Amino acid sequence: MRIVTTLRGRLIAMVAALVAVTIGATAIISTRVAHYEIRKFDVEVHASRRPLMQNAVADYYRAHGSWAGVEPAVDAMARAAGSDIALFDEHNRLTATSKALRNATLDLAPDGTLTITRTIGGGRTRELIRGPQMVVRGANGGTDGSLFILPAHKDALPPPTRSLDRSFFWTFLGATLFGILMAIAIARWISVPVERLTAAARLMESGDLTVRVEPAGGAELAELARGFNAMAAALDRNEEQRKRMVSDVAHELRAPLTNIRCELESMQDGLTTPTPERIASLHEETMHLAHLVDDLQDLALAEAGRLEIDAQPVAVAALAKRAAAGMEMRARERGVALVVEGDDDVVVLADARRAVQILTNLLANAVAHMEKPGDIQITWERTGNEAIVRVVDSGTGIPAGELPRIFERFYRVDASRSRSTGGAGLGLSIVRQLVAAHGGRVWAESEVGIGSTFSFTLPSPRPRASA
Ligand code: ADP
Repeated sequence: MRIVTTLRGRLIAMVAALVAVTIGATAIISTRVAHYEIRKFDVEVHASRRPLMQNAVADYYRAHGSWAGVEPAVDAMARAAGSDIALFDEHNRLTATSKALRNATLDLAPDGTLTITRTIGGGRTRELIRGPQMVVRGANGGTDGSLFILPAHKDALPPPTRSLDRSFFWTFLGATLFGILMAIAIARWISVPVERLTAAARLMESGDLTVRVEPAGGAELAELARGFNAMAAALDRNEEQRKRMVSDVAHELRAPLTNIRCELESMQDGLTTPTPERIASLHEETMHLAHLVDDLQDLALAEAGRLEIDAQPVAVAALAKRAAAGMEMRARERGVALVVEGDDDVVVLADARRAVQILTNLLANAVAHMEKPGDIQITWERTGNEAIVRVVDSGTGIPAGELPRIFERFYRVDASRSRSTGGAGLGLSIVRQLVAAHGGRVWAESEVGIGSTFSFTLPSPRPRASA
């Protein structure tokens, strides 16, 4: 019974059972109908002998004045003609039957239909004879009896019936075998793709994320296989990203940690003295590490969709001024002026702390990439249901080929240079996540040697109708 626990086994069993039941029922019904029709035909053909017998029976009645003792005559007649005979009197009472009908139950209905129930060849059969087949009339023209004459039932089936049964047998056997072969083929067609999917899933479970399956086995199964392939590809991509992320994080942490360790060890060994400058440099490295860890945590929260955004109506001007004030000192050190310019009435729906973080990250990048003194502008405008905020610098610019990648995690256009400015390549990916968490978009335009413009949108409710 083990086979029936597999999908293929069940499919074969199901289709085979269906074929067997359908073909079996058809075989039984068609055999019965054929037997019945052949017998009916025999009965009709046999009817050609009736007139002779009718006369003989009528003669008997006339000669004897009653049906008493008619049975031996009926028997003799039946034997000679190869018939089964039943004779009823004028009151429809069974009067005489030929020998073969004596063990049968005969039932004559008022409409003249005779039902014969008897056991032939070990099985009970029931036969309906529409009648009376013929009426035996007496001398005065009245009805003396009804006579039923049928071909005798032989124990063996007649040759036409047997040959028909043989051809039925072979036809149905052939159909059943064909049905079972079809069942096996259909089961294979359905189960092979499922087995392939299972094997692929097992391979994936054991760590092989490159496994793919060929879509086969009909529309639904092919769709399932395509879905599986898409899932495998996504898992593969995620796994790649995870590995890269871990190695990037390790790489970013190593440099400041190495600096701190070397500095501390040389102090321990008495090679250097802990001067205020050295302690300040150690503090700076530590701050850099703390900053990196904060950034990583923000990014992890945002990517997990767990960043809490407490969106409230807030004027863009207020956000821009707060961000500019925070960056003021660093800008001044580089001879850069921060210019905040825009409509005071533009209000966005945003989490103020996060919105300032977006602007601060963009301003920090802009300041870091200014090569000579100049202006950095923060401007904004309202279009439709959103506000577009821009941070425009006149710094180094970004090569066109790099632009599409700058929002990726740990991506830096010039790694060695950014290290010196304290960037780990996380600033813009955090910006992108924060903007997306507000339901906005962010993009960059840039030209090398001229400067860059970073723009992002935030949802902005309709301005109140001015009085
Ligand atoms: P980082 O922390 O290194 O600044 P970001 O994700 O903020 O990382 O930026 C990615 C890269 O994009 C930076 O390394 C820098 O090369 C480039 N970039 C970002 N902003 C600017 C800008 N305003 N001008 C020129 N290059 C920029």
